[in-house]
Amino acid sequence: MREIDLTRPVSVWRSKDLFQGREAESLTIILRTPGCSWARCTMCGYPVEGAPATEKDLLVQFGRAMERLSPGAEVVKIYTSGSFLDPGELPEVVRDHILDSLKAMGVKKLVLETRPEYITPERAKACLSRLETEFALGLETANDLVRQKSVCKGFSFRDFVKASEIVHNLGGRIKAYLLLKPPFLSEGEAIRDAVSSARAAKPYADMISLNLCNVQKKTTVERLWERDEYRPPWLWSAVEVLRNSPGPIICDPVGAGTRRGPHNCGECDGAVAEAIRKFSLTQDPRDLVGLDHWCRATWRKVVELEEKSFGTPLV
Ligand SMILES: [Zn+2]
Repeated sequence: MREIDLTRPVSVWRSKDLFQGREAESLTIILRTPGCSWARCTMCGYPVEGAPATEKDLLVQFGRAMERLSPGAEVVKIYTSGSFLDPGELPEVVRDHILDSLKAMGVKKLVLETRPEYITPERAKACLSRLETEFALGLETANDLVRQKSVCKGFSFRDFVKASEIVHNLGGRIKAYLLLKPPFLSEGEAIRDAVSSARAAKPYADMISLNLCNVQKKTTVERLWERDEYRPPWLWSAVEVLRNSPGPIICDPVGAGTRRGPHNCGECDGAVAEAIRKFSLTQDPRDLVGLDHWCRATWRKVVELEEKSFGTPLV
């Protein structure tokens, strides 16, 4: 087995984020924790990142990541490959140390990710009493059948709504992640599912983030993909969803243009991904207009024909 350094976070990087309607510097930290308590989702490869990090390891990881805070990061996003608010994954003493440090260092906003069942009024208060917090929930889809059968997510839309109500009652914010193209859906079904999910989630979410499905290692999605039974979404599909969903809606086209990531024909991927990134910062629909390439006609045909191929990808 590969030796894992438990005192180093999985990853740390700087980027730009939408904050109070403008572009702001942000720091993203992925802590290496014992991992997600659920770890069954068909597209999620994060369970392989879990490792027996102790309280002390987690504190050292966080300290190291914070060395990248200056200059000027106002937003900090902390992911654990699981749930920030799961005390079995991130002990409360570590959580409180992180929250106190962020406050002391003048961070304006924290984004954390958690499964909805870990949101209680006490835990939400622990965050919100210290700093503005956005609770990111991997809703994936508003359709319980798709979430259960295609994603194997293990919670319902009702659970998401309950968590949202707890957070909103305390003055916090909710970000809902939607998954574009869970397995077993045709390209067209995936587009319709994402648009209707954005509309259904809108009353309970202050921000919607569209995740374009990547083929991660050691997942059900990877097994399907290896047998040509899954194709990641077209970037054209992402554009279609962004144009037809209520905002604010953002999308970081991670892995765009690669075989395992969302892709078009290979020639236009860079330009389309760039337009999606730009739109995510400006929320200006004009950033998505005027994009075109020969493969867009192919994509349209795929969307049409896959309705009759029972979910088998055609191109
Ligand atoms: Zn193209």
